[in-house]
Amino acid sequence: MSKIPVLVTGGAGYIGSHALLALRDRGWPVAVIDDLSTGTREIVPEGVPFYEGGIADADLLRRIFAEQKIQAIMHFAGSIVVPESIEKPLDYYRNNTIATHSLISAAVACGVKHILFSSTAAVYGAPEHVPVDEQEPTQPINPYGASKLMTERMLADCAAAYPFNYGALRYFNVSGADPDGRSGQIGKGSTHLIKVAVEAATGKRDHVDVFGSDYDTPDGTCVRDYIHVSDLADAHVLALERLIAEPQENLLLNCGYGRGLSVLEVLDALDREVNQEIRREMKPRRAGDPPELIASNRRLVETLEWSPRFNGIDTIIRHALQWERKLAEGRAIPPSRA
Ligand code: UDP
Repeated sequence: MSKIPVLVTGGAGYIGSHALLALRDRGWPVAVIDDLSTGTREIVPEGVPFYEGGIADADLLRRIFAEQKIQAIMHFAGSIVVPESIEKPLDYYRNNTIATHSLISAAVACGVKHILFSSTAAVYGAPEHVPVDEQEPTQPINPYGASKLMTERMLADCAAAYPFNYGALRYFNVSGADPDGRSGQIGKGSTHLIKVAVEAATGKRDHVDVFGSDYDTPDGTCVRDYIHVSDLADAHVLALERLIAEPQENLLLNCGYGRGLSVLEVLDALDREVNQEIRREMKPRRAGDPPELIASNRRLVETLEWSPRFNGIDTIIRHALQWERKLAEGRAIPPSRA
């Protein structure tokens, strides 16, 4: 398999930086574009060409495509917080949908052959069938999910009209950190459960809010399918290889383990890991949260022969905690190379 140059948008962010590591570990030539609105420059390994800027900057993109001879894009740049999307829908449509229109336009103009897109289980809304497979109707219940679904549609129409193929990977709940401690969630104002929980475990917060305990689920709290970020990163490399091998084919794949855990089960796993009870406070439901999201990952496993290495909440929590401790001790982020 020839390893073509890949542009990672949002490569200084959480998932993008792990995909970057997965590509580099396997010898792919890479470059990063990131506007550093939420990303961290220092998390990008030394030697990786880094461009600071937005994906709506057509001139910058053209320059990167030419300088780095980019043939494929892994597109992570975007906004990802459900409650924020309800308060600021215009920001979400701008950052996730309109900016991606610019990216695709530049990619088409420059002859990029493959685009892999970070989509989300939020496109399903509150699905009728769980586990959810890719045939489930897409009915997002928040602007975040809607903004991503619009981009999927745009990619499908564009891939039919222009000479590139694409993959949309619908992530369930991405969590954990690089097992070797090279990256993890940095989190300015984190909102995701496992990040919030390990912050509480390391003393950065004094408790964890549990948003809603009256859902129609076994213990009343929301159920999610937590997938380790490094397993997800591996799926991206496999998906890219598939797009290259099958240029007439597009991919639409759920990314999860197919196992649901409640908020309380996650917090219990953390308590076990740290051998103490992290304080919880029961709070009302959070806007935009579906009760239960669990992936059917059959298509992912069969199409890409993906076999996760870190499947299990204990491993996810251990790696998230290891990273959080490193952050707390100031050992996670190398001194500025700017
Ligand atoms: N959650 C919680 N307390 C927190 C953060 C999240 O109870 O501090 C719940 C949230 O309401 C949802 C689940 O944990 O039911 C996962 O939320 P998260 O924000 O991690 O991911 P999402 O599913 O929204 O993408």
